Amino acid sequence: MAVVVLQDKCKGCKLCLKACPFEAIDMVDKLAVINEKCTACGACIEACPFNAIIKEENDAPKKDLSAYKNVWVFAEQREGKIMPVVIELLGEGRKLADEIGTDLCAIVLGNNIEDLSKELIAYGADKVYLAQHELLEKFTTDGYTKVITDAINEIKPEIVLLGATHIGRDLAPRVAARVDTGLTADCTKLEIDPEDKKIMQTRPAFGGNIMATIVCPNHRPQMSTVRPGVMDKAHRDDSRTGEVIEIDVKLSKEDMRTEVVEIVKTKKEMVSLTDADVIVSGGRGLGKPEGFELLKQLADKLGGVVGASRATVDAGWIDHSHQVGQTGTTVKPKIYIACGISGAIQHLAGMQSSDIIIAINKNANAPIFEVADFGIVGDLYDVVPALMDALDRAED
Ligand code: FAD
Ligand code: SF4
Repeated sequence: MAVVVLQDKCKGCKLCLKACPFEAIDMVDKLAVINEKCTACGACIEACPFNAIIKEENDAPKKDLSAYKNVWVFAEQREGKIMPVVIELLGEGRKLADEIGTDLCAIVLGNNIEDLSKELIAYGADKVYLAQHELLEKFTTDGYTKVITDAINEIKPEIVLLGATHIGRDLAPRVAARVDTGLTADCTKLEIDPEDKKIMQTRPAFGGNIMATIVCPNHRPQMSTVRPGVMDKAHRDDSRTGEVIEIDVKLSKEDMRTEVVEIVKTKKEMVSLTDADVIVSGGRGLGKPEGFELLKQLADKLGGVVGASRATVDAGWIDHSHQVGQTGTTVKPKIYIACGISGAIQHLAGMQSSDIIIAINKNANAPIFEVADFGIVGDLYDVVPALMDALDRAED
């Protein structure tokens, strides 16, 4: 949509100049003229008292939405290994495809990665689109965007799902803009509307205080990113068969504005919260960073890892990679033990699907107890050592 000034209505009052946050309006012969900095934000339309500025519908021909078929999952791989979120997307994609009555397809990019097709089919893909090229050896935004955009324009999937990983978050908005469609980021629930078979994409909005369900009625494909750890994983069945389709990759060095010279892995200890069966999480109730050492001892005894609330991460007590919640990691372990965590909605958003939640808090009215399967009211510095003693006794 473009913003245009109706010259016969413009009085040259310049109110729109003040209203525009992007300096996108010039005065030429006492008339407002929109320049190339315009982002179509519409602020000037509100400001003009003479209704002299309007948004004009793009007159590009409308897409034939019926030409778009099948559910696609972007099968992100790193160093030849499928990312765990892909298995979750294939599980969810299978349900969506079955409800619409279409195929579930995976699109995987890289170099010398044909072996991954079998794995993707075993996890539920009916078709695998395989894009191999030496310039796709390592992820680059330009390379991946071009290949996926070309594939979408040619093959026309109805739904495209990506993991909300660093790569997925980088890629999805670019691809969506190039193929002229919408994107719902960080979805926590995907459903098919039984009436019109469109996908209903639910995600937290307004700081997690409401859940918004978003549809994409007029554009295709319907695109969503989904946070790792939210959806159930697909089951592997190595007896499944499927079709592998090689994509004719049209990519040259001129398409790439960046070159990956070297990948240097961070040396800090990274915690894999999404894969853990047991998470022992600490909140501000720990009172001091050293409190996490006690939680680590309990986590080690249970074969688990340490999680954290944002309050402790913001306080610099522990690294962000441990943070559970809306702006941290979404987790679904078998056992989640929340120690000294109040249970703010943003924290609950990341852990309330855990199988068993145990809360330790000295305030009996803390909201965490509303989602807890087992609640212990008490000082964590008494309760956690007592739990460890009990575990030691049980081992003897
Ligand atoms: P507090 O709320 O201060 O709770 C501390 C608890 O410890 C209290 O309930 C207290 O009774 C208890 N306690 C104190 N001493 C002891 C003791 N000795 N023994 C036992 N219990 C004790 N938060 C997240 O966690 N993850 C997120 O991803 C996240 N994202 C956010 C995104 C947005 C946009 C916003 C606005 C906020 C976000 N937050 C997030 C912050 C969230 O709102 C809360 O501020 C935060 O979760 C509170 O952390 P806490 O429970 O550790 O601290
Ligand atoms: Fe013209 Fe309206 Fe801008 Fe005033 S606010 S200069 S009338 S377009």
